[in-house]
Amino acid sequence: MRRMPRILDGNRVRDEIKGELKPRIAALAAHGRPPGLAVVLVGNNPASEIYVRNKIKTCHDLGIYSESITPPDTISTEELLAIVEGLNARVEIDGILVQLPLPPHVDAKRILMAVSPAKDVDGFHPCNVGALVANLPAPRACTPAGIIELLKRGGIPIAGQRAVVVGRSDIVGKPVAMLLLHEHATVTICHSKTPDLKAVCREADILVAAIGRAAMITGEFIKPGATVIDVGTNHVADREKAARIYRNSAEKMANFDKRGSLLIGDVDPLDVLEKAVAYTPVPGGVGPLTIAMLMVNTVASAERRSGVC
Ligand code: NAP
Repeated sequence: MRRMPRILDGNRVRDEIKGELKPRIAALAAHGRPPGLAVVLVGNNPASEIYVRNKIKTCHDLGIYSESITPPDTISTEELLAIVEGLNARVEIDGILVQLPLPPHVDAKRILMAVSPAKDVDGFHPCNVGALVANLPAPRACTPAGIIELLKRGGIPIAGQRAVVVGRSDIVGKPVAMLLLHEHATVTICHSKTPDLKAVCREADILVAAIGRAAMITGEFIKPGATVIDVGTNHVADREKAARIYRNSAEKMANFDKRGSLLIGDVDPLDVLEKAVAYTPVPGGVGPLTIAMLMVNTVASAERRSGVC
């Protein structure tokens, strides 16, 4: 009988990382001040509000100073630039995060470019993207960095492995491909124009799905024995679709009926059990690492800026 694949448990790895940060934060506080993170949340996007609340709560739990700046969605690009520049100048702020998406009338590129690269704890500034490509120390994008932590701490070999990343976004696909390359994987990046995606994916020892399409990666995409990393977070509110994906699981459909939707990754949650040797569940896989790595970037920035490291 086939053994069940190993779960790469994001909650466990997140707690491990948070535990490792505590003495570093205590050392910074003893040296003068704790690390400081400023989060700029424009308008009232409910999903963004939840993300920001979770980030601030994690700061609070760890003893990181945090503040949220919440201008209305009528703010102009110039006014938002002034906020970012003010934060760049403040000594006690080590990290600045501008929560995306911004309202359409705001020039998001100009805003992200205005964040000081030293305080860019999202790793989105072109200077830090350049450092990533050159494999130089700098803040790395949080979700991709979290994926590498999950693989390494889960004992999954990366060097010499074939890695296939489906998705080429600036925040997940491209940076995770680059990080895997620096770990000496042989990396292929796929996207919506890739012919015969299934065949390419079936070559992967490590398959990363960062697509944004619920359960698109079915068993036919997965090589037996692969490690599957599911980045997708899709809220499926169509009951029939959720029932189809979970093959009418009574437990899952009871959850659906309670909440009105299910959070489903980009990977078919049952097929992956048949094919993979290890996988990240949704929820509880990649998701928890994103905030953990934001905290790592904030602490590392504070250490660099205060000369503690
Ligand atoms: P994105 O910017 O929309 O990029 C999606 C990528 O998937 C694009 O490169 C697109 O190709 C590709 N794609 C779409 N349909 C495809 C298809 N049929 N075949 C092959 N490739 C296809 O999304 P993202 O920001 O990278 O996010 C991806 C998923 O990860 C989303 O579900 C998002 O919510 C989730 N996410 C989770 C976390 C977390 O913390 N867990 C963090 C970030 C993102 P093209 O470039 O050709 O259009």
